Amino acid sequence: MTKNYKLHYHPNLNLEKETTIELKSVEEVRICPHCGIATSPTFIDGYLIGDNNSYIPPTTYIIFHCPSCNKLYIAKYYIPHDYYITNDMMPYDFSPIFPSCTYPGKHILPEFTENIKQLSPMFVETYRQACYAEENEDTIGLAGLGYRKAIEFLIKDYLIKVDPDNKDKIIKMQLGKCIDKLDEDIQDIAKAATWLGNDEVHYFKKHSDYGIDDMKDFIQCLVTDIERYYVKLKAREFVNANDNATK
Ligand SMILES: [Zn+2]
Repeated sequence: MTKNYKLHYHPNLNLEKETTIELKSVEEVRICPHCGIATSPTFIDGYLIGDNNSYIPPTTYIIFHCPSCNKLYIAKYYIPHDYYITNDMMPYDFSPIFPSCTYPGKHILPEFTENIKQLSPMFVETYRQACYAEENEDTIGLAGLGYRKAIEFLIKDYLIKVDPDNKDKIIKMQLGKCIDKLDEDIQDIAKAATWLGNDEVHYFKKHSDYGIDDMKDFIQCLVTDIERYYVKLKAREFVNANDNATK
């Protein structure tokens, strides 16, 4: 949903000069970084900063109130560099304008079950690091690489659990070949997650209609499937052990 916002603007960061700027059709940042709930937040105040003399590009900070948790958060918006502010003058155009991040940082990490933590501690740790990279403006470009690496740990650790005799072979095997060894009904979801992960690593993006959020959806689904197989495997081990004990 887009909104119009009236913002304070001090030309070239001169606090003695203040004017008001109206930004039109700005994408509302609805997800609160405190509680993670999407609401229709209340606009509290907003500032546009920019300084031609110091080459600070025009950037907007808007303070919102979240009606769900009653806390304030700040959304930061970039304005493309073409729209530099001219000295002491009002900016001539402010569209398009893009939300870039929210403060405080989100730090909403998915919880993995004890089974997944036990099966692949490196998957859980790498996924956590990728989440942090994604939440931090300075490292967001590295998040995709992290998620791709996490997928590899999950799939290989699962295969090693299923087939421990071939551990050394699985460790060195290409990920594509590992996916072929997975149970047939989870191969597609593993492929989809991996292909999008590869897009994040390589120079050329083959699947430009998909992004990190899609990859994370596929990873979550893969985790659920692998968790299911892992529990079945544990049950089989338990039954076999007790069968042998009762013979
Ligand atoms: Zn909230």
